[in-house]
Amino acid sequence: MTSQTTDHLRRRNLSRVLTVLHEEGARSRAELTREVGLSRSTMAGVVADLVKLGLVTESTPTHTGGAGRPSGVVRLAGDVVAVAVNPEVDAVHVGLVGLGGRVIKHVRIEIPDTEVATIVGLAAATVRGMLAGDPMRVLGLGLAIPGQVRTRDGVVRQATHLGWSEVPIVAEVAKATGLRSWAANAATLAMRAESRFGAGKGVADLVYLIGGASGVGGGAVMGGRLLTGAAGYAGEFGHTVVRPGGARCHCGAAGCLEAEVDQATLLAAAGLDAADAARLGERLTQRLGGDPDLALAALVAELAGLLAIAVRNAVNVFNPQAIVLSGFLAALHDAARVDLVGDAVASIREGVAVRDAALGEEQLMIGAAELVWAELLADPAGFLAGA
Ligand SMILES: [Zn+2]
Repeated sequence: MTSQTTDHLRRRNLSRVLTVLHEEGARSRAELTREVGLSRSTMAGVVADLVKLGLVTESTPTHTGGAGRPSGVVRLAGDVVAVAVNPEVDAVHVGLVGLGGRVIKHVRIEIPDTEVATIVGLAAATVRGMLAGDPMRVLGLGLAIPGQVRTRDGVVRQATHLGWSEVPIVAEVAKATGLRSWAANAATLAMRAESRFGAGKGVADLVYLIGGASGVGGGAVMGGRLLTGAAGYAGEFGHTVVRPGGARCHCGAAGCLEAEVDQATLLAAAGLDAADAARLGERLTQRLGGDPDLALAALVAELAGLLAIAVRNAVNVFNPQAIVLSGFLAALHDAARVDLVGDAVASIREGVAVRDAALGEEQLMIGAAELVWAELLADPAGFLAGA
């Protein structure tokens, strides 16, 4: 073999082993050897390289009395982190996320306005504060944007709720923080998080819908691959039509899912403020049980019926194994207790599981960090050489 081929193989093995640890957690070296299918000596070299790169640690082998040679446990390094940033209409979320999707810190900072300079300045100051006195190794920054992001160069084409248009957010944030940065659509990132660590783990064909203060978004994983579309905008289920000629939408069209089924309406009807969105499910169950609030019940039924149209279209088009619902859409579905896929084509709806998302409010922090981890996992040695 030429040395170039050897180097290529070595880098690919580093990528495979680190990916298993990222997705599945700590493993003994013997387990890793079996799972990845490398020889024992090759695995020893790979683990030694990853230790040298500071990405994993390996415990000293101990005799357990069983057969075979003792094997140390390989763990992801605890001090390697990515910064996650998610600007919303009323606040910016900033977090530190370790390898393996472990959220170490997460703060929500109220913002006076959604100006790019305000958000970038606050995010940069927060990151500095988080890292002060904490010797973390920060490998990059991921931004989850509620809008359309051109992933190639990290330009926000349009984020209507933030009032942003053609904003080179990655360049701005990289300049303010000095960190290598990436950006993508928030809903897509939430789905990546659920797909890797949550309700969509191990599901090769998945459709994901999330509803929040900034509208409805979503995405799809097909055949184990994230559906991106030509420029990164695929999966805008929020702008699929559920009522022709219906409510006017920010996108310029009418009757979009996002315009017809919105969180603010549901929160107001349930007597909750925007800040109480996390309690919506609980409140709806309370108000609709026992002596039910009939007006609220009618609204929930109407909105769930509209959601069912979007879900039915998605199921018929994509033939997924699972539909994962997140945010207020999960609360709505749970409260309405309707079969969202009942009207889909019979052979397609068979076996479709409708599930709630599992990662809760950390979904977007984990998803934003995945932008950094994807770059690292693809070629750990190459990524760090470029740091
Ligand atoms: Zn629309």
